Amino acid sequence: MATHIAIHDVSPAWEPEIDAALKLCARFGAKPALLVVPDYHARWPLREHASFTARLRALAEAGHEVLLHGYFHQARTEPLASTGEDGRPRGFQRFFAQRVVSAGEAEFSDLSRSEANERLDQGLTALGAAGLTPSGFVPPAWSMPAWVHELLRNRGFRYTEDHLFVYDPTTYHRRPSVVLNFASRTPARMWSSVAFCRVGRMARRLAPTRIALHPGDFRVPRLVREAESLLRWGADDFVSTTAAFMGRTGRP
Ligand SMILES: [Zn+2]
Repeated sequence: MATHIAIHDVSPAWEPEIDAALKLCARFGAKPALLVVPDYHARWPLREHASFTARLRALAEAGHEVLLHGYFHQARTEPLASTGEDGRPRGFQRFFAQRVVSAGEAEFSDLSRSEANERLDQGLTALGAAGLTPSGFVPPAWSMPAWVHELLRNRGFRYTEDHLFVYDPTTYHRRPSVVLNFASRTPARMWSSVAFCRVGRMARRLAPTRIALHPGDFRVPRLVREAESLLRWGADDFVSTTAAFMGRTGRP
């Protein structure tokens, strides 16, 4: 089964760590997708980092696929009062997205439909201004309400994903897919994610596998070694495009 690799949180905020991730992938012949954040935490707008975006354009030309990854990669810091029928997750759903599965990063689980529409347009504009054309969208923390698929379909995005599935929003096709990634937020989460990545490798026989590398991993020597072992393990089966990963084309 195919293995797809992505570098998450591609932003000038993490330039040295992204370099390290790219170097590691290159050693194993992998061309990871780049999950680009247009303005990470509202402090790293791409337009102010011309050399970084030039680098991304060169990587795209060399065959790295670009995917839009949120806009700010951050939920609002103050929860809004509930306003009713706008689709925004509230209560426990919001708590789960922001506090259990992410450290307040689940941006698209914190937006109304009109805000999400606007955020996607702003993201496409920012990437377009940087000379980048994303072929898909991955929500920060893999978290979004189901109605976001419709917004992606309206924009012709042919790839998105969450924890359990990869989707083509334009055809409603989805495939189960295991995602292997590390958590560096606390030692307990780190060790359980390392254990999961080892056990999760066995799922490759059953479902296409995603390896998600986060820049934060590259600040923890233990996780760099684990990532290296994961890439060595997956190296026979890498595919470098989401179209091939979804089974739409042959393996590039
Ligand atoms: Zn992310």
